Amino acid sequence: MQIIISGGGIGGLTAALALQARGHEVTVLEAVREPRPLGVGINLLPHAVAVLDGLGLLPALHEMAVETSALVFANRHGQPIYRDPRGLAGGYSHPQFSIHRGELQMRLWAEASAKVTVLGGQRVVNVRDDGGRAVAEIETADGPRELAADLVVGADGIHSALRRRLAPDEGPPRWRGVMMWRGTTWAPPFLDGRTMVQAGHSRAKFVVYPIGAPRADGLQLINWVADRRLREPEPGLTAPDRADWSRPGRPEDLLPTFGRWRFDWLDVPGLITRAEQMLEWPMVDRDPLPRWRLGRSTLLGDSAHPMYPIGSNGATQAIMDAQALAEALGAHADLDTALAAYEDERRPMCARIVEMNRQEGLDAILDRVEALAPDGFADLADIIDPAEVAAEINAYKAAAGHRTAR
Ligand SMILES: Cc1cc2nc3c(=O)[nH]c(=O)nc-3n(C[C@H](O)[C@H](O)[C@H](O)COP(=O)(O)OP(=O)(O)OC[C@H]3O[C@@H](n4cnc5c(N)ncnc54)[C@H](O)[C@@H]3O)c2cc1C
Repeated sequence: MQIIISGGGIGGLTAALALQARGHEVTVLEAVREPRPLGVGINLLPHAVAVLDGLGLLPALHEMAVETSALVFANRHGQPIYRDPRGLAGGYSHPQFSIHRGELQMRLWAEASAKVTVLGGQRVVNVRDDGGRAVAEIETADGPRELAADLVVGADGIHSALRRRLAPDEGPPRWRGVMMWRGTTWAPPFLDGRTMVQAGHSRAKFVVYPIGAPRADGLQLINWVADRRLREPEPGLTAPDRADWSRPGRPEDLLPTFGRWRFDWLDVPGLITRAEQMLEWPMVDRDPLPRWRLGRSTLLGDSAHPMYPIGSNGATQAIMDAQALAEALGAHADLDTALAAYEDERRPMCARIVEMNRQEGLDAILDRVEALAPDGFADLADIIDPAEVAAEINAYKAAAGHRTAR
């Protein structure tokens, strides 16, 4: 098939590679003219790493990323609540990787450019079905143009133009009052130098993990995300204007909340004040859609199911979509049957994650511990059964598609 993918992010580029590997002729159209390594850290869960391994990318991931050994939950006093071994240490077939989003995108871009047509400066604004073909309507610096194919895949992110065809009255993404500050800081490694930590609770949470090996001076690039609830989620609350997304943040926005979070194993205010970059984003999502396909087009990744960044699911679920779409097109000769099979496989799970993340997902345990012991605890078992904590976290993981090899 001839397939156009609108959007050269992690989802679109992985889909391009997975579809090309199955013999399809793929063209990726990316709105940005020259992609740059934007963003900070993301985590790739083992099931997504397995997909990238199938595309020959495991050595590159080992080169670029940190193999995450564990996810540690802690209260805002730095007391550990639960340690969840990750990747091979957690019994999975593949590692979990903490990686710089922009570097991963650039690597996928290079990989895809060697195998399929990848064009920058091409904004897909609409798709229409015409005589048994899908026609992408494209804006470029040289004016509008059109390109026909058998299928157009909308991998164009949270502000997706192609999603708008399915949900014309949807409006802007949903915001419930939490702002995120994403930063990177060169700092001494903490714990084993490979651990991801989520500390605090849903009103003030600090997520932190390294995204590179220590350099010669011993410092490691540490990625962190500080969440603060700025508003209560009352009806009618609207997200900050899109023009204000990813604007530079200031330490003064965070120090009143996180300034005293000095644990004996992590200096949170130190990471904030010494950040080399810090960007502010509203935490937003969208309601799950009743369908992703319309004629000869479908959606994938954030355009299909933007979700709160909880549980390391953003890039992971986009990669799982890419794999499922390629498999469904291989398994069914009829396009509509294939797109229905792809949706049946992916849509219910992604809708479930959107809903679970609205309830804090696996981080809900942080709120429970904060409510039970706001001043900390002598022994966790005094306030909550540790087996209950493990069961809650494992239930989320199972619902979000984690599968151990054991
Ligand atoms: C600039 C940027 C920085 C990010 N930084 C982080 C981060 O630090 N941490 C994190 O957890 N997540 C980050 N994300 C989100 C994360 O990358 C996604 O949640 C996840 O990887 C799923 O990716 P996706 O490919 O579905 O969507 P995206 O990564 O959003 O990619 C969508 C792509 O489509 C392109 N596009 C948009 N509209 C059109 C159009 N009309 N026509 C053609 N192309 C179009 C965009 O330029 C982009 O390249 C970032 C996303 C972006 C775009």
